Order: sequence, then C-alpha cells, then structure tokens
Amino acid sequence: MMLSDHKTKIVCTIGPSSSSEEVLRGLILRGMNVARLNFSHGELFQHREIVYRIRKTASEINKIVPILVDLPGPKIRVGKLINEPIFLQQGDTVVLTTSDDHTDESFIPIEYPQLTESISPGSLIYINDGFLQLECLEISQKNIKCKVIVGGELTSNKGVNLPGSDLFLEPITEKDIQMIDFALNEGLDCFSISFIEKGSDIKKIRDYAASKGKQVFLVAKIEREKAVRNIDDILLEADAIMIARGDLGIEIPIENVPIVQKKIIHKANLRSIPVITATQMLESMTANIRPTRAEATDVANAIIDGTDALMLSAETAIGKYPLNTVEIMAKIAKQTEKWRSNSKTGIYQMKKAMSKMQLQINDIISLQINEALQQLPIKYVLVPTASGETCRHISRFRPDTWIIGFSRYPHTCNSLAFQYGVHPIFIEGEVTDWEHTAFEMLKKYGFYAPDELVIITQGQTAGHGKKGGTNLLKFIRLE
Ligand code: PGA
Ligand code: MN
Repeated sequence: MMLSDHKTKIVCTIGPSSSSEEVLRGLILRGMNVARLNFSHGELFQHREIVYRIRKTASEINKIVPILVDLPGPKIRVGKLINEPIFLQQGDTVVLTTSDDHTDESFIPIEYPQLTESISPGSLIYINDGFLQLECLEISQKNIKCKVIVGGELTSNKGVNLPGSDLFLEPITEKDIQMIDFALNEGLDCFSISFIEKGSDIKKIRDYAASKGKQVFLVAKIEREKAVRNIDDILLEADAIMIARGDLGIEIPIENVPIVQKKIIHKANLRSIPVITATQMLESMTANIRPTRAEATDVANAIIDGTDALMLSAETAIGKYPLNTVEIMAKIAKQTEKWRSNSKTGIYQMKKAMSKMQLQINDIISLQINEALQQLPIKYVLVPTASGETCRHISRFRPDTWIIGFSRYPHTCNSLAFQYGVHPIFIEGEVTDWEHTAFEMLKKYGFYAPDELVIITQGQTAGHGKKGGTNLLKFIRLE
C-alpha cells in the first residue's frame, strides 16, 4: 500500500451506483476515505449488506474506511399524494394539509402536524430542495391556503423547508433512535446528525450511546440558521462538523452560504475539529463525465478555506460516473494542496490566528512540529495516540508532511480517517516501546525510508487512554 497522493479526505455516499464490491474497491483505490450511508433511504437489512461489503473490500485493501451513518433527523416531508405527479402553476392557489384523512386529490399532505403553528400568513414554504416555492395566505384548522410563487412538478415524499420559522420538532426522532440501535448493534460508531440546532442535541446521542456502553464519533450537520448561530456551542460537543450546503442553502439566504462556509471552517480549524464540506461539489458529474469549471473551483476553494474533508452525495450514490468523480476530486485536491504548501498559506494563517489564543502544551508542540517541517526535510510525523488529539492539533496547520497516527483503539483510527493529512494505523495488542512499534509498522506497510528524518511525538501516557498527555518531541534519522 502507498500513502495517498492527496491529504484532503473524501467522503463518498454509497448508493445504487456504488454498492457493488467492484465499485467500492474502485472508490477506495481512487481515494475514498469514508463511506457514508444515508439512512433516509433504503431499508435497514439493505444497509447491513452494504456495511458487510464495505468492510470486506476495505480489509482486502488493508485500508481504514469508517462507515458514516447519516441519521435523517426531523426532516419535514410531503406525504403521499393521492394522484401524482401534480403540477403547481405559478400564481395558482393550492392547499397544504396536515390531516391524514383528507380526500381531495388536489390537496398536498405535509407530514408535520404543527405546521399550522410554525407558519403564519406571509411565511415562505420551500419544497424539493427549494425548487418549488409557496407563500402562506391563510390558515384554517388543518389546511393552509398558499400561493404558488415558483411552480413545477411535485411528487410524494419530497423534502419541505420552512426557513425562519420556529419548528416544534424533537431534534432526535424515534426513528433516529431505532437507526442508532441498529447501527450500534452492527458495530458502527460514526454518525452524522441532521438538522441539529445546538450542542445539547449532539450530547443526547452521545449520552444515549454511552448508556449502551458505546463510544461514538458524532458529526454535527450544520444546515439550519440556528445551528449557524450556535456554532460555538456545537463545536464544544461535536467530534466533527459538516457544512451541509444542500439544506443550508434553503434555510439561510443562498448568498450567505459562501461566507458561512469560510467562517465555520476557520472556527473548526482553530479548535482542531475536523470539518466536512458537503453537497453539490461535483454535482454535474451525476450525469456527465467531466465537472464544470465552477465545480472544480468550488472543490479547490473549500480546500483553501481549510476543509478537512470533501463529500460526494448523488455523484457517487446514484450518479453515472462514481469512479471518475472520486478520481477528479482527488486530482483537484492534490494540485490545490501543492499550491497551498508552496505558498505556505496554511501555516501562516493558523499561526496568526493562534497568536490570539491561550496556548496549551499540546498547542506549543504542534506549533514546534510545524516550524520544524518548514525548516527541515522531514519524511513523516509519527504520533502514537489514544484519543487522536495530537494528530488533529498538528494537522490544523495543513502541513505538507504526512502525520501517521498509531492507535490501539479502532474508534480513534476511524475518527482520524476524517482528518486532513493524517494516516491512521491500527495497532493490535499491548505496546511496550512505541518507537519500535511505529518503525515496525512503517516497515510492514512499506513506508519505511532509510536515512530519512522523522519526528515522533508522544506522551508518557500515550496509548493508555489518557487524553492530552503529549509532552515529548524527538527527531530520529531512520537507519
Ligand atoms: P443531506 O445532507 O444530503 O442528508 O440532506 C446534506 C445537505 O443538506 O447538504
Ligand atoms: Mn441535509
């Protein structure tokens, strides 16, 4: 095996286009680091089969590929239309209803009983990723009369967004809990949580998993205006965040999305929390063999903003060219990282931002390592780690050198698969001499490079489950 030629991590959503072993293998070989299963679609028994295939192919290739279970959360949807499709004509009046026993074929059922309390005349209602737009005119009992502002075809089950309205929905639904139970039983430990609004929403899932004796890696999807406002609180609870630009682009004005992306990535970088930039990154490749220039530039700009990972959704789940998409994304990442490294923008930005922080030992060590990487030709930074924290601290400077994280904890290895420029290696069994073990592993994987200089950083307690104990920094020339 070789180290990947791009350090930005790639999350691929697995669906009908990519669930065969052959395509999964192709995705991993072309640079997929995390496989995302969208639990909004499909049955649990189907997910079980795909989980099995991902694990099988990843282990054959000998690569750590965590599976990210995406929980649907309280997404509001159109119910079952009596006759479909229906066509909404601009300027017409239509009726939305929260009643389940209506018989009028022209009514549009909405699966959200409190809809009539959330909105008022003048509120805007978006359906199907915002492609249809309605304005509330009048509410009577369970029916809402609306004017069609932007029309088009409508079918059952489409998503509904109510930007700016208060929602009376539990952030974690009964269905989410059933899915979490299923996933934990399957030994899955990474979740992305949709439509959260605050830190305590994340904590609920962490506590729930803990009550079942499980440690989980939780990605907070930022896709509501409230989540953008509460980002500092969310960063205290989440293990990672996702800029979920699909729903976010409807929930907040679309023109604000680019700057929100930049600001949130910067905040996450400062705290060494991995961040995934998601949705429509190479959308046109769902149907075409090449991306648009704007998409290629969007991918590069997300990397320059400082994202740890890039996500593909429809492109790999239902697209015609899943393998080409990952290949092109990886190529754009490689070129962009090369430019960043030559221009040294990553390290300068981070050093400047950190000069305003109260630094801890771990911060100083990560700063020193990155200084050394600027001055000396260092092959790898080797980090025995229990929690992965030291790897994350070093990675936030976006160095050009691979950080190899060695951990005895599969959970930590999974979490490091999301982190820019970190290659996780799982270590089985007890370790007495980490330096020796690290070198043995480099040899085993074919990374060992005689005469090269490496840095090893570890704590006296490293590998024994204690967090933040890193206090040693050593330069070694490999024999
Ligand atoms: P979704 O989340 O694909 O689950 O909706 C991502 C987004 O909203 O961008
Ligand atoms: Mn979403």
